[in-house]
Amino acid sequence: MNQKQEQKEDSLFGGDGYSATDVFDNKHSCTGYTYDDLIMLPGEITFDTSQVSLMTQLTKKIKLHLPLVSSPMDTVTEAEMAIGMALQGGIGIIHYNNSVEEQAEMVRRVKRFENGFITDPVCLSPNHLISDVDAIREKQGFCGIPVTEDGKMGSRLVGMVASRDIDFLQDRSRKLSEVMTTNLVVAQHPCTLAEANLILRESKKGKLPIVTDEYKLVSLISRSDLVKNRDFPNASKDENKQLLVGAAIGTRENDKIRLAALMKEGLDLVVLDSSQGDSIYQHQMIKWIKSTYPDLQVVGGNVVTCSQVRHLCESGVDGIRVGMGVGSICTTQEVCAAGRAQASAVFHSARQAAAYGVPIWADGGISSSGHIVKALSLGASCCMMGSMMAGTEEAPGQYFFQDGVRLKKYRGMGSIEAMSKGSDKRYFGEKATVKVAQGVSGAVVDKGSIRRFIPYLEQGVRHGFQDLGVPSLKNMNSMRISGELRFELRTSAAQREGGVHDLHSYERRLM
Ligand code: NAD
Ligand code: IMP
Repeated sequence: MNQKQEQKEDSLFGGDGYSATDVFDNKHSCTGYTYDDLIMLPGEITFDTSQVSLMTQLTKKIKLHLPLVSSPMDTVTEAEMAIGMALQGGIGIIHYNNSVEEQAEMVRRVKRFENGFITDPVCLSPNHLISDVDAIREKQGFCGIPVTEDGKMGSRLVGMVASRDIDFLQDRSRKLSEVMTTNLVVAQHPCTLAEANLILRESKKGKLPIVTDEYKLVSLISRSDLVKNRDFPNASKDENKQLLVGAAIGTRENDKIRLAALMKEGLDLVVLDSSQGDSIYQHQMIKWIKSTYPDLQVVGGNVVTCSQVRHLCESGVDGIRVGMGVGSICTTQEVCAAGRAQASAVFHSARQAAAYGVPIWADGGISSSGHIVKALSLGASCCMMGSMMAGTEEAPGQYFFQDGVRLKKYRGMGSIEAMSKGSDKRYFGEKATVKVAQGVSGAVVDKGSIRRFIPYLEQGVRHGFQDLGVPSLKNMNSMRISGELRFELRTSAAQREGGVHDLHSYERRLM
């Protein structure tokens, strides 16, 4: 047998694994697979991990350098997470378990963000007391607070209070007007971060206020942030160089009012947030948004079948969220008996959506960089994550200790706890009498800042692409379609073998 014949035999009889279509278009097995059921067979390495391009199509019109999206959940994405995700080349979708004003304010903060500048610092007025500074210091752990005429951003700066102004004073009921520093070093707005950093360095102060001609406070830069203010060459930005941000809304009449408020703040994309997106409510909402705001990118979902994908594409979506009943906090498959194993959902939905030129996001069930590689290999353009991002510093909420482990709260948007905060009307409908939760409330371990965690995930994905011999996401798609990308299913014993096993004990450090 010559080499060519051998290769043909190998691919025919499984020596080199199977194509994605061999695995998923298998009528007779009638089985849904998820990420852990699959393993990908390695290819030939001909490039370095730094040469892998993860550039992707987030929606029909928006491209990202990094195919990662943080989920619209109230323990995952508010302004801080959305800023962090966009700086690193991904994007955050702000949740809507809040008032219209609160959500709009979060979108505004992301769109106004300038790297290195604190645009929403805590301010006090001259009539506040030293004890107010103590309270802020106890809660937020910093000092160096701007004092403005009315205690708000945007008004005239009249002083700064730092630790050294108040630390040795006995009487904590004295007004800040008596103790604040009024001989200030400031920078004039507009200025670049480099210019402001230079003034800060020379001034030997902890904080540098940036003010207008009339001494109105615009922002602040902090000495302790100097080292953190690195450049983010891959940041996701619009044509005005502002960070990209998405926000979730529902499919009820009052969500139109919510959307109008978000649009005023410069929203880039809207996600219609539903566990079952193939509904007349969503079809109508998509059409209404596309006719009212033709430039806004609309992402529909969640769906898991080809016919659902077709309905959303025909309604005019620019992107689709795929995943039903697979989230780490989810009880939908138990409660409603509906859903689909995620690898099958991603493969079939992506193939159908590709026929309409609509990118899909693999949403839920991702717990490692390997899962991200698998989702992308099956046709997802991006991965949406909840639990992976929930334990980071940028996620909403405070850390707490349980059994000696540092944790943060993470809960499903359909958990009783999240619903009783405000979404129950939306979730059950006004007429429902019994609350049926489709999610749980729990906790995840501290993962540190996404400034370290996202680069760790990204590098893990790059190694995956290198091992597969795939230099870019674009190549990943063409290699899946041609059958060059090879998969195998794993038995439960093979899955066990593929994880850490047979050790008495071990320590798992991620990086
Ligand atoms: P939803 O708002 O889509 O649905 C809630 C109920 O309201 C449904 O019965 C729906 O049919 C109804 N409804 C929606 N629009 C309506 C309209 N215009 N008129 C009348 N009735 C209308 O929300 P959901 O599906 O319950 O999801 C709530 C949250 O939980 C979301 O954040 C979602 O992402 C999350 N969730 C996700 C999954 C998943 O598997 N991806 C599963 C469960 C919950
Ligand atoms: P995770 O990344 O596995 O934690 O899953 C996150 C995803 O779960 C979200 O992006 C939503 O699609 C989904 N989700 C959010 N809240 C709920 C819920 O209460 N029940 C079921 N699924 C949920």
